[in-house]
Amino acid sequence: MSVLPTAPAADASVLGLAGHGSTVELRGLVRDFGGGVGLNRLDLAAEPGELIALLGPSGCGKTTALRALAGLERVDAGSILVDGRDVTDEPANRRDLGMVFQSYSLFPHLTAGQNVEFGLRMRKVPGAERRGRAAEALELVGLGAHGGRYAHQLSGGQQQRVALARALVTRPRVLLLDEPLSALDAQVRVQLREEIRRIQTELGITTFFVTHDQEEALAVADRVAVMRAGVIEQIGRPEELYLRPASAFVAEFVGLANRIPATVAGGRLTVLGQEVPLATAVADGPVTAYIRPEDVLLASAGHAGEVLTTSFLGALRRTRVRLADGTELAVQHAAGEVLAAGDRVQVVLSGAPATVSPVAVPPVAALPVAALPVA
Ligand code: ATP
Repeated sequence: MSVLPTAPAADASVLGLAGHGSTVELRGLVRDFGGGVGLNRLDLAAEPGELIALLGPSGCGKTTALRALAGLERVDAGSILVDGRDVTDEPANRRDLGMVFQSYSLFPHLTAGQNVEFGLRMRKVPGAERRGRAAEALELVGLGAHGGRYAHQLSGGQQQRVALARALVTRPRVLLLDEPLSALDAQVRVQLREEIRRIQTELGITTFFVTHDQEEALAVADRVAVMRAGVIEQIGRPEELYLRPASAFVAEFVGLANRIPATVAGGRLTVLGQEVPLATAVADGPVTAYIRPEDVLLASAGHAGEVLTTSFLGALRRTRVRLADGTELAVQHAAGEVLAAGDRVQVVLSGAPATVSPVAVPPVAALPVAALPVA
């Protein structure tokens, strides 16, 4: 798939949207599907112009939350307020929200321009104004010259841009994006997410962005809401989630984390026989320390171990090391430090505050060796 040139920064005010971000509140939303709970008293509030990413594993309720907000899914309890007005019982077409789905969902028999015009036609906007606004919206997403093309004449990334223009042209109060990039290849995905962020910031439109890709969520969002089993486990700025995860689940879901048995005694945290700073107060006893790979360093003296695997990741390498006691650790280090499986190395936990998420754990002896998600 070809990579598009970066779209010119069109004047977002032409769409009549700039600076009109709405507040959105989801209060105690419940959606019970019978066999399973989609939403379990979900609370979430967005400030005007904020981009909130809903992040979480498959089945945690991200799409259900978005569809409930859009009016495409009924809720069994709770309320939805947009700009303070309760829209819980309003049909989707009265809520004034724009939505972009994972599949491009363009009408194949209409040109890009006609696709963008479609919502305006439904609203009986006169022809000249319709065409003018559609052209502006296409310009905004960098496709001003492609209005006459049909879906099959556009790349996946271009089709998603058309879908975005179509969602914005009706001047919605809120933009809802449901995994909008997951069908695209990696390079286009990164480029388009930056475009979405640029346009969203220019328009100041309150936006919810569903994704299961943590890097994507951290990259685009003002705040990330990590969902689990129909509720929000933690919401915060990307840095907060990464540096101060509120639970083991968040620590493991956002970024990579080594999960290492540890103990707290007298307010001091000891991991692998080494004392490391403790960010929050934790009761004495066995705990699990979640330590980022960048907080484990290769050293000339430290814990001896053997290299299991090592991956070259461009700017850095990530190497998996098994220590003498069987603990496995991921270590992030300079790409120039070339290692091979079987090499003997020594590691230390860095003196900088490690990302530690103390949680109640079974006895140390019963803990499994850390399972690391693959980057
Ligand atoms: P994914 O990332 O896989 O899309 P998700 O976080 O968006 O997952 P949802 O699609 O919101 O998850 O689903 C949440 C839960 O509700 C899941 O357990 C799912 O099986 C269930 N669910 C969703 N829609 C329905 C439905 N129409 N009927 C029955 N159960 C449903």
